[in-house]
Formats: sequence, structure tokens, C-alpha cells
Amino acid sequence: MGYSCIELAGYGNGKIGGIPMAEYKKMADDAGILIKSSHMNPNVLGRGEKYSKENMGKLRDFWKRATEDHAILGLPYMVQPGLPSIGSIEDAQRVAEVFNVAGEETLKAGIKFGYHNHDREFGKVVSGGKSINMDRNARDGRRIEEIFITETDPQKVLIELDVYWTVMGGQDPVEWINKYADRIQLLHIKDRLVLGQSGMMNFEQIFRNFYSHGHETFFVEIEDTRSGKQFDRVKASAEYLLGADFV
Ligand code: MG
Repeated sequence: MGYSCIELAGYGNGKIGGIPMAEYKKMADDAGILIKSSHMNPNVLGRGEKYSKENMGKLRDFWKRATEDHAILGLPYMVQPGLPSIGSIEDAQRVAEVFNVAGEETLKAGIKFGYHNHDREFGKVVSGGKSINMDRNARDGRRIEEIFITETDPQKVLIELDVYWTVMGGQDPVEWINKYADRIQLLHIKDRLVLGQSGMMNFEQIFRNFYSHGHETFFVEIEDTRSGKQFDRVKASAEYLLGADFV
């Protein structure tokens, strides 16, 4: 199809989608595909349990173990794609603190840690708050994504911007790519289904601006594993990119 590298999902029990790490790596090597990244969320807390001083050790242990498992793959990035339970600025700051811890652990194996957004990261939280305000015109508070970017250590945490979810969060990905040019080092290139079909994504400006900051790594994402059409959509998306002079 034209893809040269992949980002994994499905890490659990030292395996990827039930396949042992070393075996997965061999499959990728045999196919000539580079494994560049892997998505995972720490599954060590209860449902809705917030990050806290008390469970920080558990979270660190998760990242330590995940790093040891992923070192086998020889990949450069490990990324958390799920938003922990957050209702206030303080909650978001605590999460940022744990991201630094995650980055400390992954760096021990020379792997960079990143965070990947959906739309709720562009909602606002206030000090002492109880929930995220998704009102696009909300004036009070701070955006969670902005707290994550500005309150994590650039040496330990990078940002993988999902451009589709940024738009769904009411924001212009190009503005974020330029405002945080040194922090947004990876992109999820995603559209509603097949790239370029909805007309709602300004991929040309997204690529031009991202490249202008010296970055180059992106992953096409099709969030569709059930229609039976996912491979057609992955292929059609590759064709869109291969035919685009800005990629
Ligand atoms: Mg994504």
C-alpha cells in the first residue's frame, strides 16, 4: 500500500494483541515495516480513579514494565492515547506530573514518551473544578491540552497531535502545530473515514506547517475495526497521501 512504518496498539501482558513482542518484531521485520511507536494506557487504576500521590508508584511501575517489554521492539516512541479522569486544573497538573514520570521511565530504554489527544483535551477546566467544560465559547479556565504541554518537561514528554480530534475539539491543528512547534513531534493524520474525503481537514497546511518545524513522523489512523472496510480505507488513505504533492 505504501506504508513504511507503523504505530502499535493492543499492548497487554507483555504482548501486542496477544502476540509476544519478539514474535511481533520478527513479523514486522519480515514485512519490511518499521515499528516506530506503540499506544498504551496504564491499566493499573480503578475505573474513574484519578491520578494521585498515592497511586503514583503504581503508575511508575506500569511504565517501567511497559518500557522493559517495548525495549525488545527497538522503537523510538511510546504513547499514551487515553485521557485520565480529570475535572480540575489540579487534576490535569497531577496527570502532567505522572507524564514526566512516564517519560523518565521510557528514557531509561532510550524511548521517548508522548501523549495523544482526542477532543476532550480541548475542553477547559478551572481550579477546584469537578468536570471538563466543552463549551467552545467558555472564557474561564484552561485547556487541558495546554496544561499538558506547558507543565510537562520537554525533555521527557512530547505531543502526538491527532489532527482530526483537534478539529472535533473546536480547534485549528495548524495553530497548535505552530504554537507548540517544538513539542508537537508526531501527528495522527486522520479524517472522519478515508483521508481527504470529508473536506473538513486542511491536510495541506497541516503537513506544510509540521514539516516546516523539522518534523516528519506521522501515522494514518482509521478508527474503524468493525465495518469490514478498514483495509480498503487504509489503502484509499495511502493513495490520497501518495497523490498529494504536499506530503
Ligand atoms: Mg488518534
